[in-house]
Amino acid sequence: MSITPRIIPDLIKAISSTINQHADAITELDQAIGDGDHVFNLQRGIEALQAHSSEIAELDWSAAWQKIGMTVMAAIGGASGSLYATLFISLSKQTKDKPENLESFAEAFVLAVEAVKQRGKADVGEKTMLDVWVPVAIAFKQDVEAGKHLADILQHVCTVADAGVEATRDMLATKGRASFLGERSKGHIDAGAQTAQLMIAAITSVIKD
Ligand code: ADP
Ligand code: MG
Ligand code: MG
Repeated sequence: MSITPRIIPDLIKAISSTINQHADAITELDQAIGDGDHVFNLQRGIEALQAHSSEIAELDWSAAWQKIGMTVMAAIGGASGSLYATLFISLSKQTKDKPENLESFAEAFVLAVEAVKQRGKADVGEKTMLDVWVPVAIAFKQDVEAGKHLADILQHVCTVADAGVEATRDMLATKGRASFLGERSKGHIDAGAQTAQLMIAAITSVIKD
């Protein structure tokens, strides 16, 4: 199965709609242990991507990821802006001159998440978006390599993302603004992990259809 950048406008639309639908809940999460602007940061980035989405859809994957990364970097302030920009720009590098198939995407995706870890000097278990992106990237790559059916892979990825979000609840935050709260960061889900999960659910439902 080939998945082309032609689906990008639909992906952005689906992401926009789920983020808007959950805006109040996301704000509450970031208010509890951050500064409350996470949904606003994402919405600015999504709006900027929507303005370029038909143009991005005409590119090859590597160029599309590059354009997405640059757009996100210019539009989003805050920690999430530079981290998502890093993810997409790294995806661009890793997919350059590679075949446009699931195998090479899965490989590139793991390396791009690795770049986000380095950018934020963070890892799994620190109550961030990485608690979703890392296990999701690994599960996706393992399933693709094992030759599982796409529908099963997508379902598995969603389950892993849900577990990643829930795992952040009892973690002690050691990176980002939430780390300023120390022990008081415990008992709250991380906003960035939650929005990563919402985006993954939206992306998988578009690909499934
Ligand atoms: P800011 O914290 O600058 O206000 P956002 O509110 O947009 O930015 O994003 C906050 C989210 O970014 C957090 O919920 C967390 O998931 C993620 N985050 C913060 N710091 C890091 C980091 N060093 N590595 C990975 N993710 C991080
Ligand atoms: Mg914030
Ligand atoms: Mg902020």
